[in-house]
Amino acid sequence: MTIDVARYRGRFAPSPSGPLHFGSLVAALGSYLQAKSQGGQWLLRIEDIDTTRIQPGAASSIMRTLEQFGLCWDQTETYQTQRLALYQHHFDELAARQLIYGCNCSRARIASLGGVYDGCCRQKNLQTEPLAWRLKPGPVAAQFTDLVFGEVQVPDSICREDYIIKRRDGLFAYQLVVVLDDIDQQIGQVIRGADLLEMTSRQQALCVLLGHNPPQYGHLPLAVTAPGFKLSKQNHATDVSTLPLSQSMSAALTLLGHAPPAELKQAPVTELLVWALQHWQLALVPKQQEVLVSS
Ligand code: GLU
Repeated sequence: MTIDVARYRGRFAPSPSGPLHFGSLVAALGSYLQAKSQGGQWLLRIEDIDTTRIQPGAASSIMRTLEQFGLCWDQTETYQTQRLALYQHHFDELAARQLIYGCNCSRARIASLGGVYDGCCRQKNLQTEPLAWRLKPGPVAAQFTDLVFGEVQVPDSICREDYIIKRRDGLFAYQLVVVLDDIDQQIGQVIRGADLLEMTSRQQALCVLLGHNPPQYGHLPLAVTAPGFKLSKQNHATDVSTLPLSQSMSAALTLLGHAPPAELKQAPVTELLVWALQHWQLALVPKQQEVLVSS
């Protein structure tokens, strides 16, 4: 498992908790254009690790919609739920290196700490399940360089917290599996929504802890309906496949700093995509965490 940054491989990693909405279209399109403009591969990973949030049929609906927009992925799509043996293997290795510990603190206790865990179970050597398993992450950088945002400062709470890598309900946590998948799939650049900007610091540190060079990261503006309110499947943002395709793609390109010329705005998505590929430059993407859109 080594990352070969010379051979570009990007990915789009939607959680199948609902159909593709406008905000995810922006992330899909940005990561696709970045991969394809580098002559690279663009992989699709269905992040269904949190089975409590899966909506039946959402994965196939997302794939159908991506295809409608002409966003065709390379290789067969992967599903996190089919990769549990890989996750368990690395979890066991981290355990053997004594880098994890069991925690039985309640949500209420952690909420009373302001939401940031204080490491109180570190020395307890708890073994009786149910337990959440936390990582002693080692040094997490307080600053990193993002391909879009440049130098990013990371809050102390994100750098210092022993975070959960396996949940009390037995499910592996996103924070662990996203890093294992990016390493295993040899992803050289991660282009995704800015909601994960600060968490990147943890993911880079975990990659190093696992003995690998982290991928590069670039974060795209997040479409929000109101300040601080991510356009997500949970808040029932509209299924983008039910909206006029060209209009949605033009709007997504505009949000990414690549407004198509007026005569192309209503063009079929295949034409818009060709235009976008010819003009794509990550440097034109606005350094903005959130962009207000009407839902
Ligand atoms: N699965 C995450 C989401 O749908 C994206 C994770 C990532 O790109 O690293 O928001």
